[in-house]
Amino acid sequence: MTKIGILALQGAVREHAAAIRKCGVEAVEVKSAEELQYIDGLILPGGESTTMRRLIDTYDMLKPLKRFISVDKPVFGTCAGLILLARSIEGQEENHIGMMDIVVRRNSYGRQIQSFEANLNIKDIGQDFPGVFIRAPHIVKVGEGVEILCEHDGKIVMARQDSLLACAFHPELTDDNRAISYFVKMVRASIIARNKL
Ligand code: GLN
Repeated sequence: MTKIGILALQGAVREHAAAIRKCGVEAVEVKSAEELQYIDGLILPGGESTTMRRLIDTYDMLKPLKRFISVDKPVFGTCAGLILLARSIEGQEENHIGMMDIVVRRNSYGRQIQSFEANLNIKDIGQDFPGVFIRAPHIVKVGEGVEILCEHDGKIVMARQDSLLACAFHPELTDDNRAISYFVKMVRASIIARNKL
Protein backbone atom coordinates (compact mmCIF):
# COMPACT_ATOMS: atom_id res chain seq x y z
CA MET A 1 0.00 0.00 0.00
CA THR A 2 1.16 3.52 -0.78
CA LYS A 3 2.49 5.22 2.35
CA ILE A 4 2.82 8.95 2.76
CA GLY A 5 4.66 10.43 5.71
CA ILE A 6 4.09 13.75 7.39
CA LEU A 7 7.07 15.34 9.07
CA ALA A 8 5.72 15.40 12.60
CA LEU A 9 8.13 17.59 14.53
CA GLN A 10 5.76 20.57 14.74
CA GLY A 11 2.75 22.07 12.98
CA ALA A 12 -0.47 20.94 11.26
CA VAL A 13 0.24 17.20 11.25
CA ARG A 14 -3.05 15.54 12.19
CA GLU A 15 -5.06 17.43 9.59
CA HIS A 16 -2.70 16.31 6.83
CA ALA A 17 -2.89 12.71 7.99
CA ALA A 18 -6.68 12.82 7.88
CA ALA A 19 -6.69 14.36 4.39
CA ILE A 20 -4.28 11.68 3.11
CA ARG A 21 -6.36 8.87 4.60
CA LYS A 22 -9.40 10.31 2.83
CA CYS A 23 -7.56 9.57 -0.44
CA GLY A 24 -7.32 5.91 0.58
CA VAL A 25 -3.61 6.07 1.31
CA GLU A 26 -1.78 5.16 4.51
CA ALA A 27 -0.52 8.19 6.45
CA VAL A 28 2.36 7.93 8.91
CA GLU A 29 3.85 10.49 11.23
CA VAL A 30 7.58 10.77 10.65
CA LYS A 31 9.70 11.77 13.63
CA SER A 32 13.09 10.29 12.76
CA ALA A 33 15.42 9.79 9.80
CA GLU A 34 14.96 6.00 9.91
CA GLU A 35 11.26 6.32 9.28
CA LEU A 36 11.95 8.02 5.93
CA GLN A 37 12.95 4.64 4.44
CA TYR A 38 9.46 3.26 4.78
CA ILE A 39 7.52 5.98 3.00
CA ASP A 40 6.88 6.75 -0.67
CA GLY A 41 6.28 10.49 -0.30
CA LEU A 42 6.52 13.15 2.40
CA ILE A 43 4.53 16.20 3.44
CA LEU A 44 6.29 19.09 5.17
CA PRO A 45 3.39 20.73 7.02
CA GLY A 46 2.65 24.32 7.91
CA GLY A 47 3.79 25.65 11.25
CA GLU A 48 6.80 27.79 11.99
CA SER A 49 9.74 27.22 9.66
CA THR A 50 12.46 28.38 12.07
CA THR A 51 11.14 26.12 14.85
CA MET A 52 10.83 23.23 12.43
CA ARG A 53 14.39 23.75 11.24
CA ARG A 54 15.65 23.73 14.82
CA LEU A 55 13.91 20.40 15.42
CA ILE A 56 15.20 18.98 12.10
CA ASP A 57 18.73 19.72 13.35
CA THR A 58 18.00 18.35 16.82
CA TYR A 59 16.85 15.05 15.30
CA ASP A 60 19.66 14.99 12.69
CA MET A 61 17.26 14.93 9.80
CA LEU A 62 18.58 17.58 7.40
CA LYS A 63 20.84 15.30 5.35
CA PRO A 64 18.37 12.39 5.32
CA LEU A 65 15.66 14.76 4.05
CA LYS A 66 17.95 15.96 1.26
CA ARG A 67 18.74 12.35 0.39
CA PHE A 68 15.03 11.52 0.28
CA ILE A 69 14.53 14.29 -2.29
CA SER A 70 17.61 13.40 -4.31
CA VAL A 71 16.23 9.93 -5.08
CA ASP A 72 13.14 11.65 -6.52
CA LYS A 73 10.68 10.68 -3.86
CA PRO A 74 7.92 13.32 -3.92
CA VAL A 75 7.74 15.98 -1.24
CA PHE A 76 4.89 18.45 -0.72
CA GLY A 77 5.78 21.55 1.31
CA THR A 78 2.80 23.53 2.56
CA CYS A 79 3.27 27.03 3.98
CA ALA A 80 6.21 26.68 6.41
CA GLY A 81 7.03 23.51 4.45
CA LEU A 82 7.40 25.62 1.31
CA ILE A 83 9.90 27.82 3.16
CA LEU A 84 11.87 24.72 4.18
CA LEU A 85 12.13 23.63 0.53
CA ALA A 86 13.13 27.01 -0.92
CA ARG A 87 16.61 27.60 -2.33
CA SER A 88 16.55 31.10 -0.91
CA ILE A 89 14.59 33.01 1.74
CA GLU A 90 14.50 36.79 1.39
CA GLY A 91 16.42 38.61 4.09
CA GLN A 92 17.99 35.43 5.45
CA GLU A 93 21.49 34.20 4.72
CA GLU A 94 20.74 30.57 5.34
CA ASN A 95 18.20 28.31 3.68
CA HIS A 96 16.91 25.05 5.16
CA ILE A 97 16.49 22.00 2.89
CA GLY A 98 16.95 24.41 -0.01
CA MET A 99 16.36 22.01 -2.91
CA MET A 100 13.54 23.75 -4.78
CA ASP A 101 14.64 26.50 -7.13
CA ILE A 102 12.42 29.22 -5.69
CA VAL A 103 12.95 32.40 -3.72
CA VAL A 104 10.37 32.98 -0.98
CA ARG A 105 9.27 35.85 1.20
CA ARG A 106 7.99 34.98 4.66
CA ASN A 107 4.87 36.52 6.19
CA SER A 108 4.19 38.36 2.99
CA TYR A 109 0.60 39.37 3.74
CA GLY A 110 0.53 42.38 6.06
CA ARG A 111 -0.57 42.41 9.67
CA GLN A 112 -4.23 43.19 9.02
CA ILE A 113 -4.70 40.15 6.82
CA GLN A 114 -2.56 37.62 8.60
CA SER A 115 -5.15 34.99 7.82
CA PHE A 116 -7.65 34.87 4.99
CA GLU A 117 -9.39 32.56 2.59
CA ALA A 118 -9.22 33.04 -1.18
CA ASN A 119 -10.73 31.25 -4.14
CA LEU A 120 -7.88 29.90 -6.23
CA ASN A 121 -7.64 28.62 -9.77
CA ILE A 122 -4.90 26.03 -9.81
CA LYS A 123 -3.42 24.59 -12.99
CA ASP A 124 -4.02 20.82 -13.28
CA ILE A 125 -6.11 20.89 -10.09
CA GLY A 126 -9.10 23.08 -10.88
CA GLN A 127 -11.12 26.19 -10.23
CA ASP A 128 -12.44 27.63 -6.98
CA PHE A 129 -10.08 25.88 -4.63
CA PRO A 130 -10.54 27.32 -1.11
CA GLY A 131 -7.05 28.51 -0.19
CA VAL A 132 -6.56 29.03 3.54
CA PHE A 133 -3.66 31.43 4.13
CA ILE A 134 -2.20 31.78 7.65
CA ARG A 135 0.76 34.16 8.05
CA ALA A 136 1.62 32.84 4.63
CA PRO A 137 4.75 33.20 2.58
CA HIS A 138 4.72 33.63 -1.18
CA ILE A 139 7.09 32.72 -3.98
CA VAL A 140 8.92 35.78 -5.30
CA LYS A 141 10.89 34.10 -8.06
CA VAL A 142 11.07 30.68 -9.70
CA GLY A 143 13.94 29.02 -11.55
CA GLU A 144 13.71 27.57 -15.04
CA GLY A 145 12.67 24.08 -14.08
CA VAL A 146 9.81 25.27 -11.90
CA GLU A 147 6.24 25.32 -13.12
CA ILE A 148 3.92 27.92 -11.61
CA LEU A 149 0.60 26.27 -10.76
CA CYS A 150 -1.21 29.15 -9.11
CA GLU A 151 -1.02 32.89 -8.68
CA HIS A 152 -3.24 34.95 -6.43
CA ASP A 153 -3.29 38.74 -6.46
CA GLY A 154 -0.12 38.79 -8.55
CA LYS A 155 1.73 36.54 -6.12
CA ILE A 156 2.87 32.99 -6.89
CA VAL A 157 1.30 30.69 -4.29
CA MET A 158 1.81 27.21 -5.74
CA ALA A 159 4.52 25.65 -7.89
CA ARG A 160 6.04 22.35 -8.90
CA GLN A 161 9.57 21.29 -9.78
CA ASP A 162 9.60 17.62 -10.84
CA SER A 163 8.90 15.65 -7.65
CA LEU A 164 8.69 18.75 -5.45
CA LEU A 165 5.35 20.45 -4.90
CA ALA A 166 4.91 23.57 -2.77
CA CYS A 167 2.07 25.87 -1.83
CA ALA A 168 1.73 28.90 0.41
CA PHE A 169 -1.69 27.91 1.76
CA HIS A 170 -3.06 25.08 3.93
CA PRO A 171 -4.75 22.46 1.70
CA GLU A 172 -5.35 20.22 4.73
CA LEU A 173 -7.62 22.77 6.43
CA THR A 174 -10.49 22.49 3.94
CA ASP A 175 -12.79 19.65 2.92
CA ASP A 176 -11.66 20.10 -0.67
CA ASN A 177 -9.21 17.26 -1.17
CA ARG A 178 -8.07 18.09 -4.72
CA ALA A 179 -4.63 19.48 -3.86
CA ILE A 180 -3.77 16.56 -1.56
CA SER A 181 -5.02 14.04 -4.11
CA TYR A 182 -2.86 15.72 -6.78
CA PHE A 183 0.14 15.00 -4.53
CA VAL A 184 -1.06 11.42 -3.92
CA LYS A 185 -1.11 10.95 -7.72
CA MET A 186 2.48 12.26 -7.92
CA VAL A 187 3.49 9.70 -5.29
CA ARG A 188 1.73 6.85 -7.09
CA ALA A 189 3.38 7.82 -10.40
CA SER A 190 6.80 7.91 -8.75
CA ILE A 191 6.32 4.40 -7.30
CA ILE A 192 5.51 3.11 -10.80
CA ALA A 193 8.51 4.94 -12.28
CA ARG A 194 10.86 3.55 -9.62
CA ASN A 195 9.61 -0.01 -10.12
CA LYS A 196 10.48 0.27 -13.80
CA LEU A 197 14.09 1.24 -13.13
N1 GLN B 1 4.92 32.32 8.98
C1 GLN B 1 5.35 30.96 9.12
C2 GLN B 1 6.86 30.83 8.86
O1 GLN B 1 7.47 31.75 8.44
C3 GLN B 1 4.57 30.06 8.18
C4 GLN B 1 3.12 30.06 8.54
C5 GLN B 1 2.40 28.77 8.30
O2 GLN B 1 3.00 27.72 8.05
N2 GLN B 1 1.09 28.83 8.41
O3 GLN B 1 7.40 29.78 9.08
